[in-house]
Amino acid sequence: MKVTDHIENANGTLFSFEILPPLKGKSIQSIYEGIDPLMEFKPKFVNVTYHREEFIYKERENGLLEKIAIRKRPGTVGICAAIMNKYDVDAIPHLICGGFSKEETENALIDLQFLGIDNVLALRGDSIKTESSFRPHKEGHEFAVDLIHQISEMNNGNYTMDDVQLEPTNFCIGTAGYPEKHFEAMNLETDLLNVKRKVDAGASYIVTQMFFDNSKFFRFVDACRNAGITVPIIPGVKPLKTLTHISFLPKFFHIDYPIELSTELLKCKDNKDVEQVGIEWGIQQSKELMAQGVPCIHYYTMSNSTSVQKIAREVF
Ligand code: FAD
Repeated sequence: MKVTDHIENANGTLFSFEILPPLKGKSIQSIYEGIDPLMEFKPKFVNVTYHREEFIYKERENGLLEKIAIRKRPGTVGICAAIMNKYDVDAIPHLICGGFSKEETENALIDLQFLGIDNVLALRGDSIKTESSFRPHKEGHEFAVDLIHQISEMNNGNYTMDDVQLEPTNFCIGTAGYPEKHFEAMNLETDLLNVKRKVDAGASYIVTQMFFDNSKFFRFVDACRNAGITVPIIPGVKPLKTLTHISFLPKFFHIDYPIELSTELLKCKDNKDVEQVGIEWGIQQSKELMAQGVPCIHYYTMSNSTSVQKIAREVF
């Protein structure tokens, strides 16, 4: 079932979450162990991230370095199929522009339709770790809006083959939004124009980047509505868990902590303290979001569901 139908049929705020495929070589069991504790909150959908290749350098016998592409977390589509099969909930694969030609994208979407997956979160994707900025595939897409356009065209029966009308696909397309601005955007206003373009191209809901200050989310929603964006906007919530998170999350996701939260974090001496602050903050954030009638709260588990479980027990 489509995300938009889940939202339309809901009586209140829905619960959903995002997981990462395990590191290559780990079994699907590690995924189930992360999902099992969250099933009591009846998620309507579970997102599975997509991770691009990375480059490593291996020294050959002659001393020269060989550049090798590896994918540390493959398996997005397989995990989605396994989740749908085991839990009977919708699984949403993330689909990215990076590393894909248009034809490869088309073939991936055909696989998804055959598997009965009718939701995708369409993203540009992060740059490869060793590259300073995002570089598109030479026959692929530069921006998420172009990927969304391709999926919408397939929903109209228009594939990449010239002049051939084929059976339309039926994807519900999600897109990303950034309450604190995407880090490459010139300002919040131009970033918002990008969100509007993505919705106009066919995205039917928005999932936000994590944020810790609800007022920034509410301002983002207001700005979207003023810009004529009417689709559901789903807030993304991440429970802080470790001392490393404290500096990693702002650096990697380009977000700020509000002063009340940073004051509490400065008092933390170990991971346990941070975990407790993260849970309390997550509960407070979720309760306020719910009181404002958000359609769904989407939790970023980042391979740790215990904090999300503790938050959800207080909120759902
Ligand atoms: P876009 O919407 O294409 O925007 C990228 C930047 O380009 C923005 O700054 C935008 O303002 C700008 N822009 C857009 N169009 C134009 C234009 N025509 N001219 C100039 N500038 C323009 N990454 C992964 O690799 N895998 C994942 O699974 C994944 N999951 C995610 C899930 C969520 C909910 C979110 C919020 C992000 C996720 N990401 C993931 C990260 C995402 O891929 C990065 O944030 C990426 O840098 C941007 O993706 P986007 O889809 O927002 O890109």
